[in-house]
Amino acid sequence: MQRNRREFFRISALGVSLGALAGSSASANQKPLPKESEALAKALVELRKKTGLKIVRIESFVRATNIGFVRIRTDDGSEGVGQLSPFDADITATILHRKIAPHVLGADPGDFVELSQTCIEKNYKYPWSFVCRALTGVDTAIWDLLGKKHKKSVCGLLGTKPRPITVYGSSMSRQIKPAEEAKRLAKLRDEKGFTAFKIRIGKVNGHDQDQWPGRTDEIVPAVRKAIGEKVKLLVDANSCYTPKKAIQVGKLLEENKVCHFEEPCPYWELEWTAEVAAALTVPVAGGEQDNDLAQWRRMIRLKAVDVVQPDVCYVGGVTRVLQVSEMAARAGVVCVPHSANLSMVTLFTLHMMAAIPNAGDYVEFSIEDTAWTKELYAPALEVRDGKVAVPAGPGWGVEVNKAWLEKATRQVSERK
Ligand SMILES: [Mg+2]
Repeated sequence: MQRNRREFFRISALGVSLGALAGSSASANQKPLPKESEALAKALVELRKKTGLKIVRIESFVRATNIGFVRIRTDDGSEGVGQLSPFDADITATILHRKIAPHVLGADPGDFVELSQTCIEKNYKYPWSFVCRALTGVDTAIWDLLGKKHKKSVCGLLGTKPRPITVYGSSMSRQIKPAEEAKRLAKLRDEKGFTAFKIRIGKVNGHDQDQWPGRTDEIVPAVRKAIGEKVKLLVDANSCYTPKKAIQVGKLLEENKVCHFEEPCPYWELEWTAEVAAALTVPVAGGEQDNDLAQWRRMIRLKAVDVVQPDVCYVGGVTRVLQVSEMAARAGVVCVPHSANLSMVTLFTLHMMAAIPNAGDYVEFSIEDTAWTKELYAPALEVRDGKVAVPAGPGWGVEVNKAWLEKATRQVSERK
């Protein structure tokens, strides 16, 4: 019997039928969904029923190019707010109105899985990056709208309850000297109760070079000594090394009880990363830049990483993070969505961490004082005893700052 498109998408419990979404052979060797995923799967089946509403307006609000919000409205006047991917949000807003909005206006928000896939397929000549960055704005606004409609938080929609999530304090700095980094992390441990930190090693796309000679060899033991044995230490190499050098650095990490080696090799070199993961006992993590579900499938099949890190904003929204997390769950792989700044991406990620069963122990929380993420929404996220509470209100549980929106450049796409 021929199945229509909607039925096909409904086959998988999560509604993500990886074969349909990620490529022809993706479903062939799929393992069954683990038992822990059943509550989420059940919640999603319920959530994907048609609402009877139509999306009639999509607005974008962009300021200072780093950040842009999206507000959608349905024909009954309901609204939801989401965010475009950070950085070059002005370019992303143009893509939103030109390449995404035409496929979303008139659609039922309950069709979020189909909408997500349609936007990818309709833009097959412009794959991934900016299409996914723009799609994120609509997808995250739909999740907010559905939460408000059902009077549940987004993680509540996904079958769980808001709760405090353990975070790791994430340093974004490679300019900081090892002794200063060690001192500031020990201070943050004492002040905010962090139980884990991530530091930067090597150089971004560094071709085996360090930020300056000897920095990595110095910073890893210095920070380990300063934060103590009980605090977990994670490192990020941001695509720095060839496999040979990564394995050599990995030995230093293992000696210093590092528990997470992120992006050891150029992230697109899956075979290199797999070689490193196979050679080391320290778990290898990666995937923050990846937005093609077929590439995620390859990454998981190759066992390139022990921890997958889809970024809600780069991958194309919550719906696509759920698709990656399901792929990972079927393979018994941990999924910790990536959140390297305090725009709404960390908020989205906290809801994901509360809801996905293979979420790992802690999530990234930037410790940098960046001006462009200040006062974007309230209540602001706050670290207490090393944890951040998932806001309990409907949808994302926050209000975007109205004064910020008033100063932004607004664009509108509407269904006439
Ligand atoms: Mg990273």
